[in-house]
Amino acid sequence: MPPRRPPLSLSHASRYGTCRSLCCPLALRPAASSRKCSSSAPAPPPNSTVDQPHKPDHRELGQAQKLFTHSPYSPGSPLFLPRGADLFNKLQGFLRAQYEKFGFDEVITPNIYKKSLWEKSGHWDKYAKDMYSVQGRGATGKGENAEAGEDEEFGLKPMNCPGHCLLFGSEQHSYKELPIRYADFSALHRNEISGALSGLTRVRRFHQDDGHVFCRPSQIQSEIKSSLDFISLVYKTFGLGPFKLVLSTRPEEHIGTAAEWERAEDQLKAALDASGQPWEINPGDGAFYGPKIDIILKDSDGKEHQTATIQLDFQLPQRFNLAYTAPAPELEKQGIVEGPEYEEAVQKDEKGPVTPVVIHRAILGSLERFMALLIEHYNGEYPFWLSPNPAIILTTKDNPDLVKFAHKLASRLSSIGRATGPEHPYRMGRPRLRIDVDSASASMGKKTALARQKGYNFILTVGERELRHTESVALQPWSQPGLEECGRIMDSVWLHGKSKSSKRTAADDEKRDALAEEGTPALRKGKYVMVPGKTLQFFFEKLQDSYC
Ligand SMILES: [Zn+2]
Repeated sequence: MPPRRPPLSLSHASRYGTCRSLCCPLALRPAASSRKCSSSAPAPPPNSTVDQPHKPDHRELGQAQKLFTHSPYSPGSPLFLPRGADLFNKLQGFLRAQYEKFGFDEVITPNIYKKSLWEKSGHWDKYAKDMYSVQGRGATGKGENAEAGEDEEFGLKPMNCPGHCLLFGSEQHSYKELPIRYADFSALHRNEISGALSGLTRVRRFHQDDGHVFCRPSQIQSEIKSSLDFISLVYKTFGLGPFKLVLSTRPEEHIGTAAEWERAEDQLKAALDASGQPWEINPGDGAFYGPKIDIILKDSDGKEHQTATIQLDFQLPQRFNLAYTAPAPELEKQGIVEGPEYEEAVQKDEKGPVTPVVIHRAILGSLERFMALLIEHYNGEYPFWLSPNPAIILTTKDNPDLVKFAHKLASRLSSIGRATGPEHPYRMGRPRLRIDVDSASASMGKKTALARQKGYNFILTVGERELRHTESVALQPWSQPGLEECGRIMDSVWLHGKSKSSKRTAADDEKRDALAEEGTPALRKGKYVMVPGKTLQFFFEKLQDSYC
C-alpha cells in the first residue's frame, strides 16, 4: 500500500540530521570527525516554544505512551516497556520478512570478544576508548608472562563485523556459494560520554539491522544495487523520503593503499550510476577502512537526516585471511568472470584462493534511533501494523458476562491467523496483535476520552446488544492514519467475509449483493460503524498484511 503520510517533517529532523551514525562502519569513526547532533543538547525548557507549534518529541511521546524509560543504574541504555518492546519487535519482524526477500540469513554472535580479535580487526588500536572492556575469570588482562590469547581482557562489541568474519572463516567456501549475506540484530555497546546521551537517539546500548555481504569482486555492483532497492522499499513503506545518496571517499586517517581505495571508490560509483538515482560525493568522509554510501533523508524544510549506510570494505577480509576458491583467481580478483581470457584460464583448470569483498550495510541503522524518528514522524498516530496501541474494547457495563465476552473477543482478535485447537501451540507468523479491554465501571464518555487520549487506532464497544447478537461489534476509528485506504480494505473484506461462510445460502448471496450495492459503511474518525465480528477479524488481518 502506498504510504499516505506526508514525508518526514524536517522541523524535528535536525534532532537526527547530522548525528554521527550508529551504523557499524560509522560507529567507529574517529571522534574528531563526528558531527554535532542537536539531540545531544539538553531538552529545551517547556515554555521555550510558546510562540511556535509544539513539535513532536519522541522523549515526551515515549513517556506518554509508556514505550520506554531510563535508569541511573544503566545510563544511556533504554529499558523498553511492553508496548515499546512491541514496536521494537515489529520493526525487527518487518526486517526479518524482508531478509527472506533480499537473501539474508540471520546469525547469532557473541557480545564479548577477546582483545586480540579487536587488535586483529584494527579497532583496538584506534577506538578502544569508545569500547567497554570486560574482565572475568581468567580474563583480567593483568597476567604476567601470559601467552598471547591467555588472561586477556574482553571488549564488549560496538559492531558485528569481526564476528561475521569469524563465521565466514569457519567454513571452506567456493565461488559458487557467494554472495553470503549475514544479518544480525545483536545488542551493541559504545561508551558515549554521558553529556551526549539523549532519549533513543544517543545511547550506549543499541541494536542495528546489521548486515554483511561477503561477495566476489564481480558481484559488488549488483549487491550495492540490491541494497539500494532494499532501502527504497523500506523507506517507502514507512512514508519516509525522498532521500539522496552520498558517496564518502578516502579520509586522511585510513588503512590500505591508495590503489585499493581508488578501485573501491570506482566500484561504488559504478553501482550508484547503475541505480539511476542522483548521487553526490562527500570527499574525505569515508570510514577508515573503506568508502561508503550514506543515505540522507530530506525533510519538507530541506534539512537533512542521515540513516542508512552501505560500505565497501577490502581491508577487513584481508585482516582475517578470508578466502574462497575460484577458477582463474587472478582474473577473479579483478572482477573478470567472462570473456576469452577468462575462458582460457578456466580451461587450464587454474583454481586458487581469492579474498572476498565485504559490504557492511544497515537499512534502518540503529533500531532505537529509527524508532525515535518514527515516533516523531507519526506523532503518535502509527499505522495499525506497527502501533503499540492498535485497538481497545470498551464495555458499556461491568457485568461479568459482558466482561467475559469482551476478553473472549480480544483473545480472538489478538490471535488472528495463529489460532489453533486448545491442544496445539499457536502457529508462528504474524506478530501478536495487542487488543486491550477496558471493563471499568466508569461512564462510556470517560472511557472513550481515555482511549482517545492513549491514541488507540480503533476503539471497539460491546454492550448488551453485542452480547446477545455476537455477530457484530461497534467500531470507531481514532488514531488510524489513511482512513480512505482502510475503507477500501474494509470494502474488500466485507464481501470476502460473507463469501467465506460455509453455510452460505441463496439468501446470503442476495444479502451480499445488496451490500455490494449500498457499499460498506464509511470509516470516519470518531464515528462508530457496526461491523460483523468475522469481518472485523479479516479487516485487522488485512491491515497488518498491507502494512496499513
Ligand atoms: Zn560492519
